[in-house]
Amino acid sequence: MSHPNISNQNPKTQASPLGFNKPHFTGSEIKYIQEAISNSKIGSNGVFTQKCHQFFETEYGFRKVFLTPSCTDALEMCALLIDTKEGDEIIVPSYTFVSTANAFILQGAKIIFADSESNSPNIDITTLEALITPKTKAIVCVHYAGMACDMDALLNLCNKYQLYLIEDAAQAIDSFYKGKALGSIGHLAAFSFHETKNITCGEGGMLVVNDERLIPRAEIIREYGTNRSQFLRGEIAQYGWMDKGSSHMPSELLAAFLFAQLECLTKIQSQRMIHWNQYETLLKPLHNQGLIQLPEMSESIKHNAHIFYIICQDKSQRTALVNALKAANINAVFHYNALHQSTYFKDKHDGRKLPNSDKYTDCLLRLPLYYDLTSNDVQRVTSTITQFSNKHIS
Ligand SMILES: *Cc1c(COP(=O)(O)O)cnc(C)c1O
Repeated sequence: MSHPNISNQNPKTQASPLGFNKPHFTGSEIKYIQEAISNSKIGSNGVFTQKCHQFFETEYGFRKVFLTPSCTDALEMCALLIDTKEGDEIIVPSYTFVSTANAFILQGAKIIFADSESNSPNIDITTLEALITPKTKAIVCVHYAGMACDMDALLNLCNKYQLYLIEDAAQAIDSFYKGKALGSIGHLAAFSFHETKNITCGEGGMLVVNDERLIPRAEIIREYGTNRSQFLRGEIAQYGWMDKGSSHMPSELLAAFLFAQLECLTKIQSQRMIHWNQYETLLKPLHNQGLIQLPEMSESIKHNAHIFYIICQDKSQRTALVNALKAANINAVFHYNALHQSTYFKDKHDGRKLPNSDKYTDCLLRLPLYYDLTSNDVQRVTSTITQFSNKHIS
């Protein structure tokens, strides 16, 4: 990539561009795709899909998993599986990706947006009980940056009011809460293997079904509403239309790609963690001086180094910092715009103020974090932030 304008002005000091994200390729992707082609099996549910399913079920204790073409697909399956009907209320954090809400909107649900915690973008559980009505059907929690929500508190609440607990674990592969893998705790969970996530197949996802009772229907919904899976296992003589459903199956080419990534999961995660920890160490002094805020988390969680974010004091400070980083050829990006303020939803929102969602909308900034980053890269980012802070913030 070349940036002629900038480098012409300042050819000597200009550092090479540092992107925000870069997918890591393990080297085995092509080999496994070639294998899928050699098997003459490139549709869904072949050997590589089975290998991926087995990996996740044995490694993380997920009761039953289904690869899907995206996390969005998996969330849409969740909405069907809990029988979302017109007027059902689903509680969702406002600070999240649109799919967390859209999946349920598509089935006619009313979304009730909850605020984030003051010290993390995760859903503020203390605000939830007041939002529950007889129409409430589920709470969807999002493990932001792969950092677990307080699952004990969420489970208690969901048990007390007989609600489904759904984990939007899009960012949370290989993250843990009190030793349990995220995605293994709620009735249902959805993961993403989009190119921006820790492991990827370009576009991809996975539904996790931990509630036994929902497994047979999940299989049917995923395959056009038919019981084709049972037929393919030789359990029935022919298959037919049983229920609502769609095509939520990725091809073997994607599963082959994903399996290559799974084989290197440990290596990918430990490398990301090194970068994450280096960011934390080098930025801690700014945090201690109160200039910026670093991620906070409880002892009971183990995160997956998905995102390194900082919280600026306000929006103008964040804009100035983004520009300072841009001038140093570093691409740092903010994240969600609170959904209760979106063009689509703002007229439907009940008017409650969600100040923490607004704060993260305005103040959260994500720093470059990916496998192929070097220690020098991280240093370059943190020294740029430190210089900026010393000059501009007090
Ligand atoms: C990435 C992401 C999604 C969407 O994942 P896709 O696989 O692109 O559909 C949903 N929710 C959250 C929290 C995400 O980070």
